[in-house]
Amino acid sequence: MFAVAAIFAIALYYLEAWPFWPVILICLVYIILMLVLSTNVQFNFFVKAYNKNPEYPENSVALSFDDGPVENTLKILDILDKHNAKAAFFCIGKNIQKHPEIFREIIKRGHIVGNHTFSHTRKMGMLSSKRIIEEINKCNEVAEKIGGVQMKFFRPPFGIINPKTQRALKKTGHQVIGWNNRPYDAITKSPEKILERITRDLNRGDLILLHDNMLKTGPVLEQLLVILKQRNFSTVRPDRLFDIHAYS
Ligand SMILES: [Zn+2]
Repeated sequence: MFAVAAIFAIALYYLEAWPFWPVILICLVYIILMLVLSTNVQFNFFVKAYNKNPEYPENSVALSFDDGPVENTLKILDILDKHNAKAAFFCIGKNIQKHPEIFREIIKRGHIVGNHTFSHTRKMGMLSSKRIIEEINKCNEVAEKIGGVQMKFFRPPFGIINPKTQRALKKTGHQVIGWNNRPYDAITKSPEKILERITRDLNRGDLILLHDNMLKTGPVLEQLLVILKQRNFSTVRPDRLFDIHAYS
């Protein structure tokens, strides 16, 4: 609809029916709107994503970790074990190839794994649907070969879901798992700040996004699990939070 409005405005300008500025304004609004919609998975604009479940019958929250597996993932696994918590790990295909043992260890310890593309390229928003399909399929192939799982869950790198991702997901059939609690741990230095962002407005059925490739995630997770217990929250694995299957 907005694209049509922008094209219409440009056409009016060329027909000399409209002056320059209203046309620029409409095009700018369109660009900003598209940027906001395609980088916020919570809006469910291009694809329906599972972001939270406030209807979950228990007072639980779910934990998810992106960008592994890496050496640090083992520390995260030990902390989760200590607190008897199960989580979802959205893995990068390249990292699965680099750390096959750690990938298998995640599954062995009762967590679920999901697709986070093969290369996690920074150009994610610029890729064609064909390239996105290749990224998703290659990650799934590596995971199946190394871990024996056919991953159905997909978490878009940087949360980018645009019309090309939408088309790609229609082909691959993956289910998008988003989040509703994001402490920006990948770009925030202070563990206290990260912890404060997670816990300041925590509700039943929230899905928390962390990164297992960050060294500070371990100490943050240790404290978070203690705080959750103090506030009478348990943890639930994301597939159980939404009552959907992680593998086909
Ligand atoms: Zn990522």
